[in-house]
Amino acid sequence: MNGVAPGPMTDSFGRTITYLRVSVTDRCDLRCFYCMSEDMTFLPKADLLTLEELDRLCFAFIARGVRKLRLTGGEPLVRRNVMALVRSLSRHLSTGALDELTLTTNGSQLARFAQELRDCGVRRINVSLDTLEADKFRAITRWGELDKVMAGIDAARAAGLHVKINAVALKGLNEDEIPALIDWAHGLGMDLTLIEVMPMGEIGSGRLEQYVPLSLIRARLSSHYTLTDLDETSGGPARYVRVEETGGKLGFITPMTHNFCEACNRVRITCTGTLHTCLGQEDAADLRRPLRASTDDTLLHDAIDRAIGQKPRGHDFIIDRRHNRPSVSRHMSVTGG
Ligand code: SAM
Ligand code: SF4
Repeated sequence: MNGVAPGPMTDSFGRTITYLRVSVTDRCDLRCFYCMSEDMTFLPKADLLTLEELDRLCFAFIARGVRKLRLTGGEPLVRRNVMALVRSLSRHLSTGALDELTLTTNGSQLARFAQELRDCGVRRINVSLDTLEADKFRAITRWGELDKVMAGIDAARAAGLHVKINAVALKGLNEDEIPALIDWAHGLGMDLTLIEVMPMGEIGSGRLEQYVPLSLIRARLSSHYTLTDLDETSGGPARYVRVEETGGKLGFITPMTHNFCEACNRVRITCTGTLHTCLGQEDAADLRRPLRASTDDTLLHDAIDRAIGQKPRGHDFIIDRRHNRPSVSRHMSVTGG
């Protein structure tokens, strides 16, 4: 290791950071309408950290007590040679420094990579899928092909990966399809988590038209299913229930209607080396400069300490008629969901 790594990362509210989410690219092969505008401007390649730099940055966080690492994006599997990074990070699983290496993907490239992911020690992945209808899928993603995602999910399951499905609840689009998604996912032994639309990034239309509170969805589901609250939490925003009829687990991520910040154990880094200590605030610390300034990690750890010391107490998302604009200007695809 370069330099001497200081101890664990504990913020000024006593929360210890053990979970790192890394957005390895802001690019994507889809354009989900709630995530990106159709004509997105992506970062110049020169601004990106190399895979070697991302690897070094991740190692610095692991040395500071990160036990779980999630690769996301953009679409992580479209970053050229991303498997070299996965393979390199997997050494921390072998040493026991890391408990879990995982990723969030749209599934479109998964058929190619599923077995290799499994071989690198990845055991669980999240696949984002908002509908089971090909036409609707194309409408939501602007040009995506449902078949590819389904083939990706099949390949992942065949490789022995546990797949969790994430679906954003979209007003007037998939609201009525939630029971079908539950039956399908649980029928294949996959958990399902529903997500509320968050006001992130300019996407060329208002959020109010997309937003449906999960409290409403849950109330509707209660007339179809018996939902039993589960105690478990991931330190994150999801609350879980057991669907008694299917035996499967259903999660609700409700940043808009539920405050989950007290137990927050996570931070995010972008593909340019910017550290965001809160998904819902504009706070940002540049780690690329200290990373590149020397091969020793002292400057990097100093920058991490300063940023963690300023981690905000919580987010402040609002969608209502007066605030029908993004409360955070960066897109989810930059920060990594
Ligand atoms: N491309 C990968 C995928 O779709 O899974 C990883 C990145 S994507 C930004 C991560 C998650 O964020 C996805 O589940 C996506 O549905 C969700 N997401 C994107 N924009 C969102 C928004 N404005 N509100 C809520 N969830 C959003
Ligand atoms: Fe791409 Fe994921 Fe954003 Fe959809 S949600 S546009 S798949 S990054």
